[in-house]
Amino acid sequence: MTEHAVVIAGGGPTGLMLAGELALAGIDVVIVERRASQALDGSRGGGLHARTIEVLDQRGIAHRFLSAGQVMQVQGFALIPLVISDFPTRHNYGLALWQSLFEPILADWVAELGVPILRGREVVGMAQDDLGVDVEISEGEPLRAEYLVGCDGGRSLIRKAADIDFVGLDPSTSWMIAEVEMDGEPELGIRRDSIGQHALGRRQEGEPIRVVLTDRRVDHTGEPGMSDLREALVAVYGTDFGLRSAGWISRFTDMTRQAVSYRRGRVLLAGDAAHVHPPQGGQGLNTGVQDAVNLGGKLAQGVHKTAPEVLLDTYHAERHPVGARVLHNTLAAVALSSPGDRHKALRDIMADLLCMEAPRKRLAGMLSGLDIHYDLGQGHPLLGRRMPDLDLHTHDGPTRAFTLLHEARPVLLNLAEPGGFDLSPWADRVRLVEARHDGPWALPVLGQIPAPRAVLIRPDGHVAWAGDLADPALPQALVTWFGAPTPAPEDPRPGRH
Ligand SMILES: Cc1cc2nc3c(=O)[nH]c(=O)nc-3n(C[C@H](O)[C@H](O)[C@H](O)COP(=O)(O)OP(=O)(O)OC[C@H]3O[C@@H](n4cnc5c(N)ncnc54)[C@H](O)[C@@H]3O)c2cc1C
Repeated sequence: MTEHAVVIAGGGPTGLMLAGELALAGIDVVIVERRASQALDGSRGGGLHARTIEVLDQRGIAHRFLSAGQVMQVQGFALIPLVISDFPTRHNYGLALWQSLFEPILADWVAELGVPILRGREVVGMAQDDLGVDVEISEGEPLRAEYLVGCDGGRSLIRKAADIDFVGLDPSTSWMIAEVEMDGEPELGIRRDSIGQHALGRRQEGEPIRVVLTDRRVDHTGEPGMSDLREALVAVYGTDFGLRSAGWISRFTDMTRQAVSYRRGRVLLAGDAAHVHPPQGGQGLNTGVQDAVNLGGKLAQGVHKTAPEVLLDTYHAERHPVGARVLHNTLAAVALSSPGDRHKALRDIMADLLCMEAPRKRLAGMLSGLDIHYDLGQGHPLLGRRMPDLDLHTHDGPTRAFTLLHEARPVLLNLAEPGGFDLSPWADRVRLVEARHDGPWALPVLGQIPAPRAVLIRPDGHVAWAGDLADPALPQALVTWFGAPTPAPEDPRPGRH
């Protein structure tokens, strides 16, 4: 039996991101991935939202993705565009980048960090006890881990084996999706009819045409084929546009479900294993990657045994509401996109409202993930929110707040006079940075906020405490998030302690 601190089932976007986070924290982690390579059978997810670009920036790898995709205003609610160019972030846009391109770039980073991926193998069973988890795999020796994380997608075997309920709504609508070559030149864009909404699109010349067609029925079994696609095209457009070939034909639905708990003992869930919803708003991959970034630092502390066990429970407490909110907004987006004059009237009114400043900001903050606020109690507006990527001046020269997070270590950022707090009991875990910031402080949606004198930043970039270094809540926050102080070594000289 091979032992690892953490086994991750599934090497999709969520599993890869989590593996990277754990490797940065020095954890012995392995991924078990069913697919023989990172290749996907279709291009799948369409891109990244601003907060995902930010978390990649926090690790110093955003440029790898930005150079592979197209920066644009990608956000929309039921196809009503939501521009975020006025949001106070360096990444006030989204990134059009197919998941099939995103995954290999992320996998390269994970490989550089030395994480082994057991490809072409599946997790087929697991059993946990008080000390760890036995993980059975389809080929080779079983694995033993302190923790097992199910990043194994919507049909998660880990979720089922851990007996975690997946509650929500059955599908009400089904869509066929395909990437095709056609002899004809179809009119690209959205079409609405009595069945629902359909789309033909191509991001760039030379790419296959992406077809999304609302099905008449929901109760399909098995994958669709060329004849199903041809029939569906003719039903909507009256022609198949000379359909020649299809690189990918699949279906997706608006099934909306969430795991009731993201943790059972030593087994955790992240990404689609924890929440599934329709792709409206393009939030699935983004939410999974951000789950991973929230979980990584906490799980690393669980393995290092630096913080109390309950820290791991904050993963569910923080991320379950975020997932629930995504499910909620996709339910609304599907309802708004329904066929018929009544829904059209609703869409028109919503489009009108979303031209107004406050509603646009509110929804765009949610869909971009930039407004995420973990409930850490009362305090400075930054508490529980993302740390803005400020320009800082330090003794070593200019830097950015996100650069301080490249190693995925917590940071106590002192922006007032140097000194004033003895961090040495946590210095093995938390880095102290003395800096100055001369510009304004602003958060997306909220706008201007008062400048704090100091900020305690978690590895995921969220603020665990903000205030004055003399605040008695600071040592308490350090204990809560990063564990008890390390006692000073005893002075060996006689009479000294
Ligand atoms: C048509 C469509 C469009 C979408 N558009 C967007 C978008 O624009 N933006 C967005 O954010 N999201 C989008 N999504 C959602 C996105 O594709 C998913 O949310 C995302 O892939 C979830 O990542 P994941 O790693 O959690 O799960 P998955 O991508 O499902 O990865 C799970 C991995 O686990 C592996 N696996 C499964 N079972 C086992 C096992 N037992 N043992 C070992 N390995 C296993 C699988 O092979 C897979 O690699 C879209 C989805 C669809 C279908």
